[in-house]
Amino acid sequence: MRVLDHQSFARKARRRLAAGAAFLAVAVGTGVLSAAPAVAVAPPAAAIATVAKAAVAKAAVPTTANPLPSVDPIGNPASISVLVNKSRPLNPASYAPNDLINARGSGQYMRAEAAAWLNGLFQGAADAGTGGLSIVSGYRSYAQQQQVYSYYVSIYGQAYADTISARPGYSEHQTGLAMDIGNAAGNCGLSTCFGDTAAGKWVAANAHKYGFIVRYPNGYTGTTGYSYEPWHLRYVGVALATDMNRRGFPTLEHYFAGNTAAAASIKSGADLVAADSSGRLLRYPATAVGSYAGAVQIGSGWTGLKQAFVVDWDIDGVYDILAQWNNGVLGVYRGLPGGGFAGQVVVGNGGWDRMTITVGKWTHAHGRPGVVGYFPDGVLRYYPNTFGGALSSPQIIGKGWNGMELTIADWEGDGANDILARTASGALINYRGDGWAGFYGPATTVGTGWQYMRVLAPNFGLTGAGTRGITAQTADGNLYNYGLGRGQWTTYSQVGSGWNGLKLFK
Ligand SMILES: [Zn+2]
Repeated sequence: MRVLDHQSFARKARRRLAAGAAFLAVAVGTGVLSAAPAVAVAPPAAAIATVAKAAVAKAAVPTTANPLPSVDPIGNPASISVLVNKSRPLNPASYAPNDLINARGSGQYMRAEAAAWLNGLFQGAADAGTGGLSIVSGYRSYAQQQQVYSYYVSIYGQAYADTISARPGYSEHQTGLAMDIGNAAGNCGLSTCFGDTAAGKWVAANAHKYGFIVRYPNGYTGTTGYSYEPWHLRYVGVALATDMNRRGFPTLEHYFAGNTAAAASIKSGADLVAADSSGRLLRYPATAVGSYAGAVQIGSGWTGLKQAFVVDWDIDGVYDILAQWNNGVLGVYRGLPGGGFAGQVVVGNGGWDRMTITVGKWTHAHGRPGVVGYFPDGVLRYYPNTFGGALSSPQIIGKGWNGMELTIADWEGDGANDILARTASGALINYRGDGWAGFYGPATTVGTGWQYMRVLAPNFGLTGAGTRGITAQTADGNLYNYGLGRGQWTTYSQVGSGWNGLKLFK
């Protein structure tokens, strides 16, 4: 029996009140808010009635972000791998980052992550005896870029201005990920001769180690649309920059081959990923009609898994894999936009093989998906993923969860994830999340007979854009898709067979 703490309920309810009038209106409208503090676990029959009512009342509520969106990582302006060039404007054109900081106190701005790595780059250049780097120009807003571009047009005319300056909405400087740099001594400022100085040469050879690329290299004007600019650095993150360098791609356009996310190993939240008994990592691409095409091998050596999860751990728009190993390690493999995965980053050490976990966004307070799970003691804990790397200290969110299988999914369709728990006797119970790392309202039984399911994995977009569902792998090797509506099941269909030897990733 799961006992929910009433104190915690009241606290979370108050927090919900503070969270916004719209949310409150919804909760009151369904009658759930008043019921929550008094009843922890309602009898299944009454609970189902409650859920049905809520579903009707919520028809007009806008949904919030899908926890595993199927996105284009190079079309999202907030993604560090966004591709911006003369044929790919920012969308929206007025995009402005929300995490700009003053880079090295220069008065020029960059997004926080890029600015942090820029410090390392500057230190590296100084340590290498190059004479050091200087900051010239960072973030420019749409309006500022409009001024810059108009100025060049007034002097040189539009045709030439287009080779040296971006139109507003088309500039990498507007992403907050670009920085023009120079020599600390001041020579060769914004001139191609910067590339021949000690600092310019060091930057060209080493920038990738700090997540930067020289965005407009010599000889690729036909591809990038810009003349050689050895001073214009673009932050793309260490994993991508290093991968580009290792595989010899001269430009971002080459790396992405002018396409969208198509190069990533896991392309969609509808794809299935599994490991077979010989450790091959397989992707089953979802088709447009709610089925799967034949397997594509995307990795090897995946033996020794207790379970694994497909998740965008660092919210860069490319799917990653969280691996729960039998040796107790919890590790993340970041998906690269150009395909493949970066090496394992250990995000949890020791004893994770003894945990039953599920992974997903568990609170609006954290943008990244975290881990919810329990040791054999049955105490349910939430481990926040604060930085896209190692997990932070857990908070206890429940007890008595022994023997439950856990799946994070938004049963209500209200934008706050819930936990679907499968009991040993095969009941599937929805523990409604309050969106702030706690639970809310009565638990409701949403299914029976689920003891024959070996794995439950959330899916996104399988039967159309915006659709959600649960892929269930049965003990006899069949796969079924259970479509999720708002507080109810929708479609139901068999989507696979012969999966006995495969470990389906959740
Ligand atoms: Zn620039």
